[in-house]
Amino acid sequence: MSDEKNGLPDDPYHLIVERVPLGLVMTDAEGTITYVNPRACETSGYSPEELIGHNARIFSAGATPQATYRQMWATISAGRIWHGHVLNRCKNGSTVTEYMQVSPLRDDAGRITHYLAVKEEKLVRPESRFARRTATLDPLTGLPSRSELLQQLEEMVGRVYESGAGFALLYLHLDQFRNLYQTSGPIAADKVMLEVVARLSTAVRADDLIARCASDEFAVVLNDSSDEAICRQATHRLLQALAAPITVDGHMTEMTCTTGVARFPLDGETADELLRAALLALSAATRDGGSGLRFFTPELATQDNSELDITSLLRYAVERGELRLHYQPQLSLRSGQVVGVEALVRWQHPVKGLIPPGLFIPIAEDTGLIIGIGEWVMREACRQVKEWQSLGLSSVHVAVNLSARHFHSSTLPDTVASVLADTGLEAKYLELELTESAIMQDTAKAVRVVDRLRNLGVHISLDDFGTGYSSLAYLSRFQIDRLKIDQSFVRDITTNPVNASIATATIAMAHKLGKIVVAEGVETQAQMEFLRRGDCDEMQGYYFSRPVPAEELGQILRSGKHLDLSAEASATQTDTILLVDDEPNILNALRRLLRREGYRILTASGGAEGLELLALHAVQVIVSDQRMPGMSGVEFLSKVKELYPQTVRMSLSGYSEISTVTDAINKGAIWKYITKPWDDEALVKEIRDAFRLARPAT
Ligand code: C2E
Ligand code: MG
Ligand code: MG
Repeated sequence: MSDEKNGLPDDPYHLIVERVPLGLVMTDAEGTITYVNPRACETSGYSPEELIGHNARIFSAGATPQATYRQMWATISAGRIWHGHVLNRCKNGSTVTEYMQVSPLRDDAGRITHYLAVKEEKLVRPESRFARRTATLDPLTGLPSRSELLQQLEEMVGRVYESGAGFALLYLHLDQFRNLYQTSGPIAADKVMLEVVARLSTAVRADDLIARCASDEFAVVLNDSSDEAICRQATHRLLQALAAPITVDGHMTEMTCTTGVARFPLDGETADELLRAALLALSAATRDGGSGLRFFTPELATQDNSELDITSLLRYAVERGELRLHYQPQLSLRSGQVVGVEALVRWQHPVKGLIPPGLFIPIAEDTGLIIGIGEWVMREACRQVKEWQSLGLSSVHVAVNLSARHFHSSTLPDTVASVLADTGLEAKYLELELTESAIMQDTAKAVRVVDRLRNLGVHISLDDFGTGYSSLAYLSRFQIDRLKIDQSFVRDITTNPVNASIATATIAMAHKLGKIVVAEGVETQAQMEFLRRGDCDEMQGYYFSRPVPAEELGQILRSGKHLDLSAEASATQTDTILLVDDEPNILNALRRLLRREGYRILTASGGAEGLELLALHAVQVIVSDQRMPGMSGVEFLSKVKELYPQTVRMSLSGYSEISTVTDAINKGAIWKYITKPWDDEALVKEIRDAFRLARPAT
């Protein structure tokens, strides 16, 4: 079309039109193409002849919502300029997302005779100051992503700082989108999203920036205006644009948004500070309820907002890949081998560091973010275990914690099924850990959900057992495979007779109901041996390993590391006596005296140490001093009576302590009382008798 090849152009406008790196398409009032510039041909792959005379629909890919075109026609036929994003199809079938501005052209009489479309690929607005070639875009909408937004904000901050002007950051949360996603599925949600984007695009000025920061969150940067009234107007326009119901596939939905506003330089001087301020304002608006608007105020930053802070940051944790899984081995107390792992989530925040689940899971529960987090955890855990399996490491199951909210969400069984299908993990290797409180809510429904999950082939375990209010009888209604005794019972299992009997009774009853029992929080060998003797099936705890990153767990599996359970087994046959006294020379004298008898002799300098040894070793006879620091002999032997009733217990005390000891004798805590100093021969005889008494019971 250009005929200015030689010499200076006599029509500079024509040259500009031919060379400008923007697609220009002119149509008549009916939409028939009358002119295209070389760039429009280049982008679309058509020659001018293939386009001129055809309707502009030739560009349409069929993916841009009809409502967008309707809106475009309504705007331009009313004589106004329309701009927005459309997905166009090229001659070779590929698609290209373009930002398009369409202006009506009038004749002298004021009648619209033509339309001029100015198009740019990649959605970077031709006139925008934000134009960047390397923009990272949200794949669905083609809008800049959150990271892109941050980069552009940083540049703006630099530029605007010099010019002294201000700008505003509007942070929008679509109130109903998550719900829509869950009820209507991803395809319908994507369509609604495209319509939302088309509408929002029409509601901002060409020079403003829209970014999609998360699945249901947008940021709008109002260039050049940090004025409160202008921000309010802009928010109003955005809300208006969303006001009409959106119809997708015959279903009508309504969308509203909640908005938080931060202004530069008033509320923050860096991109990060601004975004944080806008998020704090959004959180405050969310707490106000309704689809409100809040401006950032300094109080929002100074009030105790650690929770608020976490809430806003947590929104991105999954998308930004900040979540990590650590794995803690679960071991068989029969074979000592690793039989499973529990996946425990951690949040590696770039600034705050490693945040434990106790700090953010409850917040994630309250805000509903737990569903996304839970899905991520399940998927990642299954993927990891499948990877270990394909590396030939021993096949262990993986336990994933399910929050009550996730357990009650209607999509859970489908999610579980699709995670298993996508990762290729056999269902029997996945175990879901529920809490008592989760299954206590709406029990009839809970029973059905558990049944559905079991039918998928996954296993179910009940976490933190003993801390809730459920009874074992009640639990028999649920198809639960494992009970996990809460660590609060395990912590003092060797010293607290009450907790010890709860644990042992739980184990016995759970076995009667055919369930496997896992003890949580096992930190010492003594706790482990106690549980093992109480017939507990499996254990998990720092004693063997803390929760560790996948790589370290892989090494544990590869090395075949396991619990050493052999030592005690061989020693259980030997007659064993435990001597407890805080005076070393008394212990020495007793040891010398009893060595000839062939007993295995254990000694402790106090009650606490004595309890530890009792947990570690099978002991038949105990001889304890009465007056000891920390725990008296009577106290110690009374606990031993509760914890190990089959032992034979003797007190070795000064004569003056007789009155204290008698009571313990009467309660059965002490079998015999021997005064200090003792007669060697008589004592040896008493101890032989004690072993004789102990033997039939062991
Ligand atoms: P939980 O499921 O009962 O997990 C066991 C917790 O005990 C873990 O804490 C673990 O690190 C800790 N632990 C393990 N062995 C020992 C031990 O020997 N001594 C002591 N003192 N602690 C031990 P963590 O990782 O901080 O997790 C705390 C809780 O957060 C979990 O309790 C679970 O309820 C929740 N949680 C963790 N990950 C997830 C998740 O992905 N989703 C959900 N919904 N909740 C999770
Ligand atoms: Mg757990
Ligand atoms: Mg637990």
